[in-house]
Amino acid sequence: MKSIQTSKTKYIFVTGGVLSSLGKGITSSSIATLLQHSGFEVSILKIDPYINVDPGTMSPLEHGEVFVTSDGAETDLDIGHYERFLNKDFHKANNFTTGQIYLSVIEKERRGEYLGKTIQIVPHIVDEIKHRIHLAGKQSDFLIVELGGTVGDMEGMPYLEAMRQLKHELGSNQVISVHVTLIPLIKAAGELKTKPTQHSVQELRRIGISPQILVARCERMLGKELKKKIALSCDVDDDSVIVAQDSQSIYKCPLDFLQEGILVPIARRFGLGELNPNMDEWDMLVKKIISPKDSITIGFVGKYLSLKESYKSLTEALIHAGAHINTRVDIRWIDSQKLQGTALEDGKSELDGVDSILIPGGFGERGIEGKLQAIEYARVHKIPLLGICLGMQLAIIEYARNVLGIIQANSTEFDKDTKEPIIYLIEDFIDSQGNKQVRTHSSPMGGTMRLGEYPCAVLKGSKLYEAYKQDCIRERHRHRYEVNPAYKKRLEDGGMVISGESSGLVEAIELKDHPWFVAVQFHPEFTSRLKNPNPIILEFLRQTLAHKRVH
Ligand code: GLN
Repeated sequence: MKSIQTSKTKYIFVTGGVLSSLGKGITSSSIATLLQHSGFEVSILKIDPYINVDPGTMSPLEHGEVFVTSDGAETDLDIGHYERFLNKDFHKANNFTTGQIYLSVIEKERRGEYLGKTIQIVPHIVDEIKHRIHLAGKQSDFLIVELGGTVGDMEGMPYLEAMRQLKHELGSNQVISVHVTLIPLIKAAGELKTKPTQHSVQELRRIGISPQILVARCERMLGKELKKKIALSCDVDDDSVIVAQDSQSIYKCPLDFLQEGILVPIARRFGLGELNPNMDEWDMLVKKIISPKDSITIGFVGKYLSLKESYKSLTEALIHAGAHINTRVDIRWIDSQKLQGTALEDGKSELDGVDSILIPGGFGERGIEGKLQAIEYARVHKIPLLGICLGMQLAIIEYARNVLGIIQANSTEFDKDTKEPIIYLIEDFIDSQGNKQVRTHSSPMGGTMRLGEYPCAVLKGSKLYEAYKQDCIRERHRHRYEVNPAYKKRLEDGGMVISGESSGLVEAIELKDHPWFVAVQFHPEFTSRLKNPNPIILEFLRQTLAHKRVH
């Protein structure tokens, strides 16, 4: 790794203007990717100005997916983007919320650490923010700091003040401010409008921050003249207006940014020489995403379909694995509730014609019967199936009910008093070192969760082994319920293979007399990256492609 001569971390602050959802996360990830491929050590921090301590308690329909890091933090889904782009693990310290900042300041105050002072936003809250930014940047050449929300939001004020102060303290060759904004196209007039951007930059300046680079989201490419006009009115260099046009794939964005020359002002501001990132492998993968040789159709049986962001890591993981086998993955979104009670016979189901079936994770009772139906369909029709977390729990319930004759088999999540609790709640468990572990308390409301990375011993000769080719793997978890060990023997005697275990807990199952029916308790999607797809998802796609070719 190339390291910057001065040992100090350089900071790139990314703020957003005009409106949300302009792609600050992808902008931050793209800049980080280009710097990483130029040989630097890069880290990213996402700041969420909401008051929740973490997104763990928010509904997936409210906030999209909750991403889980290897150290068990429940974070914003942008951390997932960072890992997928940078192909490395991030941790608890790479995401914080206003709730966390206030919580730690108030705890310090209660412990008397402020020595009787009046606690205020400036300096105490802002100091806590700066402290956490420094912590996240330690041991990196660059730290990209992405601030959630848009400039002008009340919640964002202390963070902008922290950014202003850091620039003052560290100097302008250590800190760059990038502002992501919108250049709307007024269709009737056929005109691109720069006024919202000017207003947004003025608002930033009022707070004391002058951006050096503008990333302008725009439906069209901007002409030289318009770029010049924006540069002049917003007081940035002419080469520092970077256009971010809608891209065919988010993974193309770093390449687009490179072409737009974003590294030129970055290198100049930081006093670095010319930067030449090696993007060859990346470029090749993007080409395979955009124009693949093959295509497959996967039936995705979920329940949070009104907000597809709830399944972000999984849909991205399908894209990564698809790129590595030069195949486009078309998703047929199937609402599990609508599947409930529908026919299993060929020609009558919404699942007809899919090349494989994917049952993702989920919480609560709604849509369960429909998912069971889809699992039965895959088992009976011998269609490849991958079940994840809740998907594995349901695959076991379906097998117990329909093959083993344990008709009342259920999870205590759906029926607290079920007579056959084949999936149940355990409060604590024994870890791989033989120590008793108590589950992480994720919320007073939700009880306990098994969160983060755990080892899993893989059965030799199994389909799971075929995929990972390792005796022991590490994957991430986010669930409360487990397979009840009291039923293990009956499942195995009845033909189900337990192919993965973690200190006595069932981590993976599969069927022998089926081409490819695999379900896992962990979430393989959390460790999938563009350059390093997850093995079980890759194998699922290979099997899907093979199944398509036969039929
Ligand atoms: N609801 C199930 C549990 O808590 C599965 C969770 C999931 O799929 N992430 O165990």
